[in-house]
Amino acid sequence: MKTIIVGGDAAGMSAASKLKRLKQDSEIVVYEKGNYLSYASCGLPYYVADGTMEQRGLIQRTKQEFETAGIRPVLRHEVRQVIPEQKKITVKNLITGEIFDDSFDKLLIATGAHPVVPSLPGTELEGVHTLKTIDDAVALKNRLMPDNVRNIAVIGGGYIGVEVAEALAQTGRSIRIIQRPDVLIKNFDPEISSFAYRELERLGVEIKTGERLQAILGTSRVEAVVTDRGTYAADVVLLALGVAPSTEFIKDSGIELAENGAVIIDREMRTSLPDVYSAGDCAEVYHMVRMENAYIPLATTANKCGRIAGENLAGGHVSFAGTLGSAAIKVGKLELARTGLSESEARRLGLDVKTVLVKASDLPHYYPGASPLRIKLNYESGTRRILGAQGAGEKGVVLRIDIFAAAIANRMSADELGMLDLCYAPPFSTPWDAVHIATNAAK
Ligand SMILES: Cc1cc2nc3c(=O)[nH]c(=O)nc-3n(C[C@H](O)[C@H](O)[C@H](O)COP(=O)(O)OP(=O)(O)OC[C@H]3O[C@@H](n4cnc5c(N)ncnc54)[C@H](O)[C@@H]3O)c2cc1C
Repeated sequence: MKTIIVGGDAAGMSAASKLKRLKQDSEIVVYEKGNYLSYASCGLPYYVADGTMEQRGLIQRTKQEFETAGIRPVLRHEVRQVIPEQKKITVKNLITGEIFDDSFDKLLIATGAHPVVPSLPGTELEGVHTLKTIDDAVALKNRLMPDNVRNIAVIGGGYIGVEVAEALAQTGRSIRIIQRPDVLIKNFDPEISSFAYRELERLGVEIKTGERLQAILGTSRVEAVVTDRGTYAADVVLLALGVAPSTEFIKDSGIELAENGAVIIDREMRTSLPDVYSAGDCAEVYHMVRMENAYIPLATTANKCGRIAGENLAGGHVSFAGTLGSAAIKVGKLELARTGLSESEARRLGLDVKTVLVKASDLPHYYPGASPLRIKLNYESGTRRILGAQGAGEKGVVLRIDIFAAAIANRMSADELGMLDLCYAPPFSTPWDAVHIATNAAK
Protein backbone atom coordinates (compact mmCIF):
# COMPACT_ATOMS: atom_id res chain seq x y z
CA MET A 1 0.00 0.00 0.00
CA LYS A 2 1.60 3.27 -1.13
CA THR A 3 0.43 6.62 0.21
CA ILE A 4 1.53 9.90 -1.29
CA ILE A 5 1.24 13.03 0.81
CA VAL A 6 1.46 16.42 -0.87
CA GLY A 7 2.74 19.06 1.58
CA GLY A 8 5.14 18.42 4.44
CA ASP A 9 4.11 20.67 7.29
CA ALA A 10 1.61 20.36 10.16
CA ALA A 11 -1.18 18.38 8.47
CA GLY A 12 1.00 16.35 6.09
CA MET A 13 3.61 15.25 8.61
CA SER A 14 1.04 14.57 11.36
CA ALA A 15 -0.70 12.26 8.91
CA ALA A 16 2.54 10.61 7.80
CA SER A 17 3.65 9.98 11.39
CA LYS A 18 0.29 8.58 12.50
CA LEU A 19 -0.04 6.36 9.44
CA LYS A 20 3.48 4.98 9.93
CA ARG A 21 2.87 4.27 13.61
CA LEU A 22 -0.32 2.38 12.77
CA LYS A 23 0.98 0.56 9.68
CA GLN A 24 4.69 -0.06 9.86
CA ASP A 25 4.75 -1.75 6.44
CA SER A 26 3.10 1.15 4.55
CA GLU A 27 5.14 3.03 1.96
CA ILE A 28 4.79 6.79 2.53
CA VAL A 29 6.21 9.39 0.16
CA VAL A 30 5.86 13.09 1.06
CA TYR A 31 6.41 15.69 -1.66
CA GLU A 32 7.22 19.13 -0.26
CA LYS A 33 8.03 22.02 -2.56
CA GLY A 34 9.86 24.03 0.11
CA ASN A 35 13.13 23.52 1.96
CA TYR A 36 11.75 22.35 5.29
CA LEU A 37 9.38 19.86 6.85
CA SER A 38 7.28 20.22 9.96
CA TYR A 39 8.17 23.82 10.75
CA ALA A 40 6.55 26.17 13.25
CA SER A 41 4.98 28.94 11.16
CA CYS A 42 3.37 30.22 14.34
CA GLY A 43 6.79 31.11 15.73
CA LEU A 44 7.84 33.16 12.71
CA PRO A 45 6.72 36.63 13.91
CA TYR A 46 8.78 36.14 17.07
CA TYR A 47 11.76 34.77 15.17
CA VAL A 48 11.72 37.85 12.90
CA ALA A 49 11.74 40.31 15.81
CA ASP A 50 13.95 38.42 18.25
CA GLY A 51 17.68 38.49 17.53
CA THR A 52 18.37 35.56 19.88
CA MET A 53 15.90 32.99 18.53
CA GLU A 54 17.55 30.30 16.43
CA GLN A 55 16.21 29.21 13.08
CA ARG A 56 16.72 25.53 13.75
CA GLY A 57 14.46 25.79 16.81
CA LEU A 58 11.55 26.34 14.41
CA ILE A 59 11.93 22.86 12.96
CA GLN A 60 10.04 20.29 14.96
CA ARG A 61 11.40 17.19 13.18
CA THR A 62 14.10 16.99 10.52
CA LYS A 63 14.08 15.09 7.24
CA GLN A 64 16.54 12.59 8.76
CA GLU A 65 14.24 11.95 11.71
CA PHE A 66 11.32 11.22 9.40
CA GLU A 67 13.54 8.97 7.27
CA THR A 68 14.61 7.07 10.36
CA ALA A 69 10.91 6.55 11.12
CA GLY A 70 10.49 4.97 7.68
CA ILE A 71 8.84 7.90 5.88
CA ARG A 72 10.31 9.15 2.57
CA PRO A 73 10.15 12.96 2.34
CA VAL A 74 11.18 14.50 -0.96
CA LEU A 75 11.99 18.20 -0.60
CA ARG A 76 11.97 20.89 -3.32
CA HIS A 77 9.52 18.86 -5.37
CA GLU A 78 6.25 20.46 -6.39
CA VAL A 79 3.19 18.40 -7.29
CA ARG A 80 1.73 20.00 -10.43
CA GLN A 81 -1.23 17.77 -11.21
CA VAL A 82 -3.36 15.00 -9.76
CA ILE A 83 -5.01 12.47 -12.09
CA PRO A 84 -7.27 10.54 -9.69
CA GLU A 85 -8.70 8.10 -12.25
CA GLN A 86 -5.18 6.83 -12.97
CA LYS A 87 -4.10 7.20 -9.33
CA LYS A 88 -1.19 9.28 -10.57
CA ILE A 89 0.42 12.62 -9.83
CA THR A 90 2.82 14.77 -11.85
CA VAL A 91 5.78 16.18 -9.95
CA LYS A 92 8.37 18.82 -10.80
CA ASN A 93 11.84 18.59 -9.29
CA LEU A 94 12.46 22.26 -8.49
CA ILE A 95 16.24 21.80 -8.47
CA THR A 96 16.74 20.05 -11.82
CA GLY A 97 13.50 21.03 -13.56
CA GLU A 98 12.75 17.36 -14.30
CA ILE A 99 9.05 16.45 -14.50
CA PHE A 100 7.91 12.90 -13.70
CA ASP A 101 4.87 10.89 -12.67
CA ASP A 102 4.35 8.91 -9.49
CA SER A 103 1.48 6.62 -8.57
CA PHE A 104 -0.42 6.05 -5.34
CA ASP A 105 -2.96 3.78 -3.74
CA LYS A 106 -4.05 6.60 -1.42
CA LEU A 107 -3.39 10.31 -1.60
CA LEU A 108 -3.47 13.11 0.98
CA ILE A 109 -3.60 16.73 -0.15
CA ALA A 110 -2.03 18.78 2.66
CA THR A 111 -0.77 21.78 0.72
CA GLY A 112 -1.87 24.42 3.21
CA ALA A 113 -2.44 28.00 2.22
CA HIS A 114 -0.41 30.86 0.78
CA PRO A 115 -0.46 34.59 1.56
CA VAL A 116 -2.82 36.69 -0.53
CA VAL A 117 -0.90 39.22 -2.64
CA PRO A 118 -3.15 41.89 -4.18
CA SER A 119 -2.86 42.73 -7.87
CA LEU A 120 -1.57 46.25 -7.28
CA PRO A 121 1.38 48.18 -8.66
CA GLY A 122 4.61 47.77 -6.71
CA THR A 123 4.08 44.44 -4.96
CA GLU A 124 7.14 43.09 -6.80
CA LEU A 125 9.48 45.77 -5.38
CA GLU A 126 12.44 44.85 -3.20
CA GLY A 127 11.42 45.30 0.43
CA VAL A 128 7.86 43.98 -0.03
CA HIS A 129 7.44 40.79 1.97
CA THR A 130 4.97 38.14 3.02
CA LEU A 131 5.40 35.81 5.99
CA LYS A 132 4.57 32.14 5.62
CA THR A 133 7.69 30.03 5.45
CA ILE A 134 11.02 29.95 7.23
CA ASP A 135 12.62 31.36 4.07
CA ASP A 136 10.16 34.28 4.20
CA ALA A 137 11.06 34.90 7.83
CA VAL A 138 14.81 34.82 7.13
CA ALA A 139 14.36 37.24 4.20
CA LEU A 140 12.27 39.64 6.30
CA LYS A 141 14.65 39.44 9.24
CA ASN A 142 17.63 40.22 7.00
CA ARG A 143 15.74 43.09 5.42
CA LEU A 144 15.08 44.60 8.84
CA MET A 145 18.70 44.30 9.94
CA PRO A 146 20.20 47.62 8.67
CA ASP A 147 19.85 50.58 11.03
CA ASN A 148 18.40 52.78 8.30
CA VAL A 149 15.24 50.63 8.10
CA ARG A 150 12.94 52.89 10.09
CA ASN A 151 9.44 52.80 8.60
CA ILE A 152 7.59 49.55 8.38
CA ALA A 153 4.13 49.32 6.84
CA VAL A 154 2.11 46.27 7.80
CA ILE A 155 -0.80 45.87 5.41
CA GLY A 156 -3.55 43.93 7.16
CA GLY A 157 -4.51 43.85 10.82
CA GLY A 158 -5.38 40.18 11.25
CA TYR A 159 -3.53 37.73 13.48
CA ILE A 160 -0.27 37.77 11.51
CA GLY A 161 -0.18 41.53 10.88
CA VAL A 162 -0.83 42.30 14.54
CA GLU A 163 1.66 39.70 15.79
CA VAL A 164 4.42 41.07 13.57
CA ALA A 165 3.60 44.72 14.39
CA GLU A 166 3.55 43.91 18.09
CA ALA A 167 6.83 42.02 17.96
CA LEU A 168 8.58 44.71 15.87
CA ALA A 169 7.23 47.55 18.02
CA GLN A 170 9.62 46.35 20.70
CA THR A 171 12.56 47.05 18.34
CA GLY A 172 12.08 50.83 18.35
CA ARG A 173 11.11 51.26 14.69
CA SER A 174 8.16 53.16 13.36
CA ILE A 175 5.39 50.66 12.65
CA ARG A 176 2.16 51.46 10.88
CA ILE A 177 -0.72 48.99 10.38
CA ILE A 178 -2.94 49.84 7.44
CA GLN A 179 -6.14 47.94 6.80
CA ARG A 180 -9.50 48.27 5.11
CA PRO A 181 -11.85 46.95 7.86
CA ASP A 182 -12.64 49.37 10.68
CA VAL A 183 -11.60 46.89 13.37
CA LEU A 184 -8.41 44.91 13.95
CA ILE A 185 -8.41 41.09 14.16
CA LYS A 186 -11.97 40.84 13.00
CA ASN A 187 -12.45 37.30 14.31
CA PHE A 188 -12.90 39.02 17.65
CA ASP A 189 -15.89 41.11 18.66
CA PRO A 190 -15.00 44.83 18.75
CA GLU A 191 -15.43 45.06 22.55
CA ILE A 192 -12.44 42.70 22.86
CA SER A 193 -10.35 43.65 19.81
CA SER A 194 -10.45 47.28 20.97
CA PHE A 195 -8.07 46.23 23.76
CA ALA A 196 -5.55 45.12 21.14
CA TYR A 197 -6.02 48.43 19.36
CA ARG A 198 -5.29 50.48 22.50
CA GLU A 199 -2.36 48.27 23.49
CA LEU A 200 -0.76 48.59 20.05
CA GLU A 201 -1.13 52.36 20.25
CA ARG A 202 0.48 52.29 23.68
CA LEU A 203 3.40 50.43 22.10
CA GLY A 204 3.71 53.23 19.54
CA VAL A 205 2.14 51.42 16.57
CA GLU A 206 0.18 53.77 14.32
CA ILE A 207 -3.09 52.20 13.18
CA LYS A 208 -4.90 53.29 10.05
CA THR A 209 -8.20 51.46 9.72
CA GLY A 210 -10.73 51.96 6.94
CA GLU A 211 -7.93 52.62 4.42
CA ARG A 212 -7.52 50.67 1.22
CA LEU A 213 -4.03 50.02 -0.18
CA GLN A 214 -3.81 51.28 -3.76
CA ALA A 215 -0.13 51.02 -4.70
CA ILE A 216 3.38 50.53 -3.40
CA LEU A 217 5.87 53.12 -4.69
CA GLY A 218 9.59 52.90 -5.35
CA THR A 219 12.11 52.58 -8.17
CA SER A 220 13.72 49.26 -7.39
CA ARG A 221 13.16 49.34 -3.60
CA VAL A 222 9.97 50.22 -1.82
CA GLU A 223 9.79 53.85 -0.72
CA ALA A 224 6.14 54.45 0.18
CA VAL A 225 2.66 52.98 0.26
CA VAL A 226 -0.35 54.76 -1.18
CA THR A 227 -3.86 54.30 0.19
CA ASP A 228 -7.16 55.98 -0.66
CA ARG A 229 -6.46 58.39 2.19
CA GLY A 230 -2.75 59.19 1.96
CA THR A 231 0.86 58.30 1.17
CA TYR A 232 3.15 56.92 3.86
CA ALA A 233 6.94 56.49 3.76
CA ALA A 234 7.96 52.82 4.02
CA ASP A 235 11.35 51.08 3.96
CA VAL A 236 9.74 47.67 4.33
CA VAL A 237 6.20 46.50 3.59
CA LEU A 238 4.68 43.33 5.01
CA LEU A 239 1.61 42.11 3.16
CA ALA A 240 -0.53 40.32 5.76
CA LEU A 241 -3.85 40.23 3.97
CA GLY A 242 -4.83 36.70 4.88
CA VAL A 243 -4.28 33.37 3.17
CA ALA A 244 -5.89 31.40 0.36
CA PRO A 245 -5.93 27.58 0.05
CA SER A 246 -3.08 26.24 -2.12
CA THR A 247 -5.25 24.11 -4.38
CA GLU A 248 -4.73 25.67 -7.81
CA PHE A 249 -3.01 22.47 -9.03
CA ILE A 250 -6.09 20.30 -8.36
CA LYS A 251 -8.77 22.59 -9.71
CA ASP A 252 -9.28 20.40 -12.80
CA SER A 253 -8.82 17.07 -11.00
CA GLY A 254 -12.47 16.46 -10.16
CA ILE A 255 -11.85 16.89 -6.43
CA GLU A 256 -14.69 19.07 -5.20
CA LEU A 257 -13.61 22.53 -4.03
CA ALA A 258 -15.50 25.26 -2.17
CA GLU A 259 -15.93 28.72 -3.65
CA ASN A 260 -12.71 29.98 -2.03
CA GLY A 261 -10.78 26.99 -3.42
CA ALA A 262 -10.66 24.98 -0.16
CA VAL A 263 -11.06 21.22 -0.55
CA ILE A 264 -14.47 20.04 0.62
CA ILE A 265 -13.99 17.15 3.03
CA ASP A 266 -16.13 15.14 5.38
CA ARG A 267 -15.32 14.64 9.04
CA GLU A 268 -13.07 11.66 8.17
CA MET A 269 -10.99 13.97 5.88
CA ARG A 270 -12.29 12.24 2.74
CA THR A 271 -12.66 14.35 -0.38
CA SER A 272 -15.35 13.81 -3.00
CA LEU A 273 -13.13 11.15 -4.68
CA PRO A 274 -12.32 7.67 -3.34
CA ASP A 275 -8.88 7.18 -1.76
CA VAL A 276 -8.18 10.93 -1.87
CA TYR A 277 -8.04 12.71 1.49
CA SER A 278 -7.28 16.29 2.46
CA ALA A 279 -6.52 18.12 5.73
CA GLY A 280 -5.17 21.39 7.06
CA ASP A 281 -5.25 24.92 5.66
CA CYS A 282 -5.97 23.72 2.11
CA ALA A 283 -9.30 22.26 3.21
CA GLU A 284 -12.50 23.22 4.94
CA VAL A 285 -13.17 21.87 8.40
CA TYR A 286 -16.32 20.90 10.29
CA HIS A 287 -17.37 23.57 12.80
CA MET A 288 -18.86 22.21 15.99
CA VAL A 289 -21.26 25.08 16.72
CA ARG A 290 -22.18 25.96 13.16
CA MET A 291 -22.64 22.23 12.43
CA GLU A 292 -21.33 22.74 8.91
CA ASN A 293 -17.97 23.16 7.21
CA ALA A 294 -16.06 26.41 7.57
CA TYR A 295 -12.68 27.72 6.41
CA ILE A 296 -10.60 28.39 9.52
CA PRO A 297 -6.89 27.95 8.77
CA LEU A 298 -5.18 27.28 12.11
CA ALA A 299 -2.29 25.09 13.21
CA THR A 300 -4.32 23.46 15.98
CA THR A 301 -6.83 22.19 13.45
CA ALA A 302 -4.22 21.23 10.84
CA ASN A 303 -2.40 19.03 13.34
CA LYS A 304 -5.56 17.28 14.53
CA CYS A 305 -7.05 16.82 11.07
CA GLY A 306 -3.70 15.56 9.78
CA ARG A 307 -3.54 12.98 12.52
CA ILE A 308 -7.11 11.85 11.81
CA ALA A 309 -6.28 11.65 8.10
CA GLY A 310 -3.33 9.40 9.03
CA GLU A 311 -5.59 7.08 11.03
CA ASN A 312 -8.10 6.89 8.20
CA LEU A 313 -5.42 6.40 5.55
CA ALA A 314 -4.45 3.38 7.64
CA GLY A 315 -7.97 2.03 7.24
CA GLY A 316 -9.68 3.66 10.23
CA HIS A 317 -12.94 5.57 10.40
CA VAL A 318 -12.16 8.29 12.89
CA SER A 319 -14.37 11.34 12.72
CA PHE A 320 -13.22 14.86 13.68
CA ALA A 321 -15.40 16.35 16.42
CA GLY A 322 -15.00 19.78 14.89
CA THR A 323 -13.24 23.08 15.32
CA LEU A 324 -14.34 25.96 17.50
CA GLY A 325 -11.96 28.43 15.89
CA SER A 326 -10.22 28.76 19.26
CA ALA A 327 -7.33 31.18 18.92
CA ALA A 328 -5.16 33.43 21.04
CA ILE A 329 -2.87 36.35 20.43
CA LYS A 330 -0.39 38.29 22.55
CA VAL A 331 -0.45 42.04 22.11
CA GLY A 332 2.11 43.82 24.28
CA LYS A 333 1.27 42.95 27.85
CA LEU A 334 -2.18 41.64 26.93
CA GLU A 335 -3.54 38.20 26.12
CA LEU A 336 -6.56 38.01 23.82
CA ALA A 337 -8.38 34.75 23.16
CA ARG A 338 -11.58 33.60 21.50
CA THR A 339 -13.53 30.39 20.99
CA GLY A 340 -16.82 29.44 19.34
CA LEU A 341 -18.96 32.03 17.61
CA SER A 342 -18.44 35.76 17.72
CA GLU A 343 -21.59 37.82 18.15
CA SER A 344 -21.62 38.87 14.49
CA GLU A 345 -21.10 35.25 13.31
CA ALA A 346 -23.99 34.09 15.50
CA ARG A 347 -26.25 36.81 14.09
CA ARG A 348 -25.22 35.96 10.52
CA LEU A 349 -26.25 32.36 11.21
CA GLY A 350 -29.66 33.57 12.37
CA LEU A 351 -29.16 32.50 15.98
CA ASP A 352 -30.99 34.36 18.73
CA VAL A 353 -27.81 35.46 20.47
CA LYS A 354 -27.51 37.37 23.72
CA THR A 355 -24.27 38.73 25.11
CA VAL A 356 -22.69 39.86 28.35
CA LEU A 357 -19.40 41.65 28.89
CA VAL A 358 -17.93 41.44 32.38
CA LYS A 359 -14.91 42.85 34.13
CA ALA A 360 -13.35 40.53 36.69
CA SER A 361 -10.01 39.96 38.35
CA ASP A 362 -7.70 37.03 37.73
CA LEU A 363 -6.75 36.89 41.43
CA PRO A 364 -8.32 38.29 44.63
CA HIS A 365 -7.74 42.06 44.83
CA TYR A 366 -5.65 41.67 48.01
CA TYR A 367 -3.28 39.18 46.39
CA PRO A 368 -0.08 40.68 44.85
CA GLY A 369 -0.16 40.85 41.06
CA ALA A 370 -3.94 40.74 40.64
CA SER A 371 -4.96 42.18 37.29
CA PRO A 372 -8.30 42.87 35.61
CA LEU A 373 -9.65 40.83 32.73
CA ARG A 374 -12.69 41.21 30.49
CA ILE A 375 -14.80 38.31 29.27
CA LYS A 376 -17.48 38.57 26.63
CA LEU A 377 -19.94 35.69 26.51
CA ASN A 378 -22.21 34.96 23.55
CA TYR A 379 -25.09 32.61 24.37
CA GLU A 380 -28.35 31.49 22.91
CA SER A 381 -31.49 33.09 24.26
CA GLY A 382 -33.91 30.53 25.70
CA THR A 383 -31.61 27.49 25.91
CA ARG A 384 -28.81 29.66 27.33
CA ARG A 385 -26.37 27.39 25.51
CA ILE A 386 -22.91 28.96 25.33
CA LEU A 387 -22.07 29.82 21.72
CA GLY A 388 -18.79 31.65 22.10
CA ALA A 389 -16.52 33.47 24.49
CA GLN A 390 -13.72 35.97 24.16
CA GLY A 391 -11.44 37.71 26.59
CA ALA A 392 -8.68 40.26 27.08
CA GLY A 393 -6.41 40.96 30.00
CA GLU A 394 -2.86 40.73 31.24
CA LYS A 395 -2.98 37.20 32.61
CA GLY A 396 -5.14 34.12 32.74
CA VAL A 397 -7.29 34.91 29.70
CA VAL A 398 -6.25 31.98 27.48
CA LEU A 399 -6.71 29.56 30.37
CA ARG A 400 -10.28 30.77 30.89
CA ILE A 401 -11.23 30.81 27.22
CA ASP A 402 -10.01 27.20 27.06
CA ILE A 403 -12.55 26.38 29.80
CA PHE A 404 -15.24 27.95 27.64
CA ALA A 405 -14.05 25.84 24.68
CA ALA A 406 -14.53 22.66 26.72
CA ALA A 407 -17.96 23.88 27.82
CA ILE A 408 -19.07 24.70 24.26
CA ALA A 409 -17.82 21.35 22.98
CA ASN A 410 -20.00 19.69 25.61
CA ARG A 411 -22.96 21.93 24.79
CA MET A 412 -23.09 23.31 28.32
CA SER A 413 -25.48 26.08 29.25
CA ALA A 414 -24.43 29.25 31.05
CA ASP A 415 -26.18 27.90 34.19
CA GLU A 416 -24.16 24.67 34.17
CA LEU A 417 -20.83 26.43 33.68
CA GLY A 418 -21.80 29.06 36.24
CA MET A 419 -21.75 26.37 38.95
CA LEU A 420 -18.87 24.25 37.65
CA ASP A 421 -16.40 23.24 40.33
CA LEU A 422 -13.21 25.02 39.21
CA CYS A 423 -10.01 25.15 41.31
CA TYR A 424 -9.63 28.02 43.74
CA ALA A 425 -6.79 29.30 45.92
CA PRO A 426 -5.75 32.98 46.09
CA PRO A 427 -2.50 32.59 44.08
CA PHE A 428 -4.52 31.17 41.16
CA SER A 429 -8.07 32.52 41.00
CA THR A 430 -11.02 33.95 42.90
CA PRO A 431 -13.78 31.89 44.60
CA TRP A 432 -16.17 32.96 41.88
CA ASP A 433 -13.83 32.80 38.92
CA ALA A 434 -14.13 35.18 35.94
CA VAL A 435 -15.70 32.22 34.10
CA HIS A 436 -18.43 31.95 36.75
CA ILE A 437 -18.94 35.71 36.84
CA ALA A 438 -19.49 35.89 33.08
CA THR A 439 -21.81 32.89 32.91
CA ASN A 440 -23.82 33.93 35.97
CA ALA A 441 -24.26 37.40 34.49
CA ALA A 442 -26.02 35.79 31.49
CA LYS A 443 -29.72 36.33 32.16
C1 LIG B 1 3.18 33.84 10.65
C2 LIG B 1 2.14 32.84 11.01
C3 LIG B 1 1.71 32.72 12.33
C4 LIG B 1 0.75 31.78 12.67
N1 LIG B 1 0.36 31.69 13.99
C5 LIG B 1 -0.55 30.75 14.33
C6 LIG B 1 -0.93 30.58 15.70
O1 LIG B 1 -0.44 31.28 16.59
N2 LIG B 1 -1.84 29.63 16.00
C7 LIG B 1 -2.40 28.82 15.03
O2 LIG B 1 -3.22 27.94 15.36
N3 LIG B 1 -2.04 28.95 13.73
C8 LIG B 1 -1.14 29.89 13.36
N4 LIG B 1 -0.76 30.01 12.05
C9 LIG B 1 -1.38 29.13 11.04
C10 LIG B 1 -0.63 27.82 10.94
O3 LIG B 1 0.71 28.04 10.69
C11 LIG B 1 -1.24 26.98 9.83
O4 LIG B 1 -2.60 26.78 10.15
C12 LIG B 1 -0.56 25.64 9.67
O5 LIG B 1 0.78 25.80 9.32
C13 LIG B 1 -1.28 24.84 8.59
O6 LIG B 1 -0.60 23.66 8.37
P1 LIG B 1 -0.78 22.88 6.99
O7 LIG B 1 0.10 21.69 7.07
O8 LIG B 1 -2.20 22.69 6.69
O9 LIG B 1 -0.27 23.89 5.87
P2 LIG B 1 1.11 24.63 5.65
O10 LIG B 1 1.78 24.92 6.93
O11 LIG B 1 0.81 25.76 4.74
O12 LIG B 1 1.98 23.55 4.88
C14 LIG B 1 1.68 23.14 3.59
C15 LIG B 1 2.95 22.71 2.90
O13 LIG B 1 2.63 22.26 1.60
C16 LIG B 1 3.63 22.68 0.70
N5 LIG B 1 3.03 22.70 -0.65
C17 LIG B 1 2.07 23.54 -1.09
N6 LIG B 1 1.73 23.22 -2.37
C18 LIG B 1 2.52 22.17 -2.72
C19 LIG B 1 2.64 21.41 -3.91
N7 LIG B 1 1.87 21.64 -4.96
N8 LIG B 1 3.58 20.42 -3.94
C20 LIG B 1 4.37 20.15 -2.85
N9 LIG B 1 4.28 20.86 -1.70
C21 LIG B 1 3.36 21.85 -1.63
C22 LIG B 1 4.04 24.05 1.20
O14 LIG B 1 5.34 24.38 0.79
C23 LIG B 1 3.92 23.88 2.72
O15 LIG B 1 5.15 23.54 3.32
C24 LIG B 1 0.21 30.94 11.68
C25 LIG B 1 0.64 31.05 10.35
C26 LIG B 1 1.60 31.98 10.02
C27 LIG B 1 2.06 32.09 8.60
